[in-house]
Amino acid sequence: MRKDGELLVAQGITRRYAMRRGVLGRSVEVRAVDGVSLTLERGRTLGLVGESGCGKSTTGRLVLGLERPDDGSVAFEGRPMPTPNTPEWRKLRARMQMVFQDPLGALDRRLPIGAQVAEPLEIHNVGTPAERATRVAELLRGVGLRPDQAARYPHELSGGQRQRAVLARALATDPSLLVCDEPISALDVSIQAQVMNLLVELQSRLGLGILFISHDLRAVRQVSHRVAVMYLGRIVEEGEPDEVLHDPAHPYAQALVSAIPHPGKIGRGIVLQGDPPNPADRPSGCAFHPRCAVASALCARETPVLKPRPGDGRRVACHVAQGEIAPGTLQKAA
Ligand code: SF4
Repeated sequence: MRKDGELLVAQGITRRYAMRRGVLGRSVEVRAVDGVSLTLERGRTLGLVGESGCGKSTTGRLVLGLERPDDGSVAFEGRPMPTPNTPEWRKLRARMQMVFQDPLGALDRRLPIGAQVAEPLEIHNVGTPAERATRVAELLRGVGLRPDQAARYPHELSGGQRQRAVLARALATDPSLLVCDEPISALDVSIQAQVMNLLVELQSRLGLGILFISHDLRAVRQVSHRVAVMYLGRIVEEGEPDEVLHDPAHPYAQALVSAIPHPGKIGRGIVLQGDPPNPADRPSGCAFHPRCAVASALCARETPVLKPRPGDGRRVACHVAQGEIAPGTLQKAA
């Protein structure tokens, strides 16, 4: 049953791809996203973090209906996600928008900004041409641009102004959900804070639910009400930012958090062993066990379940964090 304020509910979503491997081109199945469940409320931000290739962006595409999950379901505003490219899906998509990493790539270099902000209004047949022009001016003001900048082309704006224009376009159809995929990583550090502040301000003004996908934990901490950490297609820890980003329970989350640089900090924190494993060759049991400093033999055999941890209720998928076993020394023994 849908709870009050629930905007987006994904349950057990899985996305599989076929991949060719080896000299003979043998086809193997890769699970880019594997049984992910998440909930987002109106006016709240869920931060989704993890290394590159962990499935965060695919999760974003699945919740927007840009790809269909092979298993599991997505409900938006209490209704199941319709089949992609149907009229019903297009109508719903107006209420859910995506903001990409590279604003220059997201904009058409040949069109003035104003025409691009007006485009979703035209596609969805909103208002007369005069009403659209008024709305474009309002949208530009709403993201801190001047209405006269509607005549500018993308290359005539700074990186921060371009990302503001992308946000204005995303907001044109009054969405209730924004999926922001690494929205600040292509921007100069000096501009990043401005765009983050703008997102927070837009959320409080418009009541947007935001799925904020990023590998930048400091940015995630600044904007998120909840945080989920992904590893190899699965969520391994989820909870309040104060819990997950200050006192992480999962060894992988601990390594990510320990790598955040801050003034006065010496050293690099916990250094993860090796690269993330190939998703086509998923390790047995806990997929993190080949890199985990406290893994036991059990970790290589049994997959830990993501469940609330006794005591603080945050969800963690780890035998040690759940108190099922003591920290082990599997890596040292190997
Ligand atoms: Fe490490 Fe075992 Fe926990 Fe996986 S289940 S994170 S291998 S301790």
